[in-house]
Amino acid sequence: MRATLTVLGSGTSMGVPTIGCDCTVCHSSDPRDKRTRPSVLIEYDGRSVIIDTTPDFREQAIRESILKLDAVLYTHTHADHLLGIDDLRPLSFLHKPNRLPLYAHPDAAEFIRKMFGYIFNANYKFGGLPQVELRPINGSVELFGARFEPIVLIHGDAKIYGFRFGSGAYLTDHSEIPESSLAKLQGLDVLFLDALRYKPHPTHSTVENSLQTVERLKPKRAFFTHICHDLPHEKTNASLPDNVKLSYDGMKLEFEI
Ligand SMILES: [Zn+2]
Ligand SMILES: [Zn+2]
Repeated sequence: MRATLTVLGSGTSMGVPTIGCDCTVCHSSDPRDKRTRPSVLIEYDGRSVIIDTTPDFREQAIRESILKLDAVLYTHTHADHLLGIDDLRPLSFLHKPNRLPLYAHPDAAEFIRKMFGYIFNANYKFGGLPQVELRPINGSVELFGARFEPIVLIHGDAKIYGFRFGSGAYLTDHSEIPESSLAKLQGLDVLFLDALRYKPHPTHSTVENSLQTVERLKPKRAFFTHICHDLPHEKTNASLPDNVKLSYDGMKLEFEI
């Protein structure tokens, strides 16, 4: 089935422009150099699924006119991927009397439950809470006729999830992709990869590392995300091979899910 992927955010944890920074990319007039925190929206068969809820989720949802949401998948619990959870409220209310499902690794689900006790602890009687329900991921998640397969990634000292869905895969934060995960990423049309900057980083991939991953996996199209202010959009793109591009906020593409 055909699906549309929209890049909600293509930036690193601090976003671009970065608070307090005076560099040329942070002051660029190219809208593609404005990067909110990393997330994607996947739409198919009248359904809408997002990966992660960033601190910029409200702005992203308004920008992309998201009118409904059927599920959220979490890659991990770092603040730049999670803190927009409370802004799920208006879209979660559409599910009443049911709840909007949030899928996460069992440890991540536990972390979210504790960190956002006011949402998940039934003893709290605040009004207007997000109507959401945590569902720990144990193997592939079937969502509305599409299969989302968790792909283990090494993110510094942590193990986190990327996801493969049909001919697409979204691999944000990682410093390494285990062999067992690479084996699950064959025959891709679209591959999204963390490419923070040129300079090495202990928990993130670089342009060079991600180009090597592309070389190895040979997807038809590859897009970099989780990009910091070291990479000006236009100049960096011009230096990349034809099948590899920097993603940018609001970018849309079609693929087979
Ligand atoms: Zn991140
Ligand atoms: Zn992270």
